[in-house]
Amino acid sequence: MDLFNLPRTFTGGFVTGTTMANFSALAVARQWFGTQLEQDITADGLINLSLPVISATPHSSVLKSLAMLGLGRNNLITIPTLSNQREAIDVAKLKLFIEYNFQHQPFILVLNAGTANTADFDAIAEVMELKHTYNCWIHIDAAFGAFAACSSQYQHLLNGWEMADSIAIDCHKWLNVPYENACFFTRKEHFKLQFNQFKNSNVPYLENQLENFNFMNILPENSRRLKALPVLFSLLAYGREGYRYIVDNSIDLAQEFGNYIRKSRYFELLAEVRLNIVCFKVTAACDTAEFLQKLNKTGLVFMTPTTFNHEKGIRAAFVNWRTTIEDIKLVYSLIENIINSK
Ligand SMILES: *Cc1c(COP(=O)(O)O)cnc(C)c1O
Repeated sequence: MDLFNLPRTFTGGFVTGTTMANFSALAVARQWFGTQLEQDITADGLINLSLPVISATPHSSVLKSLAMLGLGRNNLITIPTLSNQREAIDVAKLKLFIEYNFQHQPFILVLNAGTANTADFDAIAEVMELKHTYNCWIHIDAAFGAFAACSSQYQHLLNGWEMADSIAIDCHKWLNVPYENACFFTRKEHFKLQFNQFKNSNVPYLENQLENFNFMNILPENSRRLKALPVLFSLLAYGREGYRYIVDNSIDLAQEFGNYIRKSRYFELLAEVRLNIVCFKVTAACDTAEFLQKLNKTGLVFMTPTTFNHEKGIRAAFVNWRTTIEDIKLVYSLIENIINSK
């Protein structure tokens, strides 16, 4: 929490990835929603409840979570983004929608702090104002965007996130720990809801009382590895300063690569480089899939395909602590070789 400048108003726990972090946080949100209508969903199931979940461009894992939680992927209410160049929610449209439809009803809102395609951020502080007027749970998927908190130049993107009810953060991305590591934070005032959601009840030989704290009763898994250990070691080894360097370095390199794409005759940016992700397309006479296959086959660089604004594209995401400007220069020559070998 200190690394992210978050106040001690949250409790946290480790899970395998942000998919599970989103799932777990939304499970607590679901239990909160039931409580608003005097129903205990974990005890009685979803009986005649239609549970509104609102977002603009949620990560696929949010939809998967809705599916796993019995809320239904198709029930997500989608609010338009600011423009077709942006993945951030149009707050004015969101406000109007809520005013018309949810004036007196509870609802769940899922915000993005760093979308996977273009690292776009919803205007978090502005959306948080809704909490003064409406009865809502606000969850933030901050899988990698949370790390903007380490950068003095970019931390403003997270303004207001301390007001969230829950936050999901990946540790195996920008924190650079081995795979299967993420965490989620929930406000301390929601602790009882979280306990009711995940308690491992009716087992006499395992402690399951609220008073006897055990992570088994506030997280989805019972048996689990000590995921906090690699995180602790990494934090001890690099500290706040180390992560400030890693994050700023990734962002600088993404900007550098973005400038290269902007100037190149073979490529075009599909979106502004907002943080550490460069989303671009091939404009040279070369098929995107074929280009990517050749590039990744070199074993020296790995980029992933995407679609953005109805166009086929490529995303280059910068998170690794070892990446330097030399690697970026190597990438320039690799991709130009591929284009010119056509
Ligand atoms: C990667 C990512 C996820 C899913 O995380 P996993 O660790 O793969 O489960 C969710 N949301 C965003 C924004 C992500 O970038």
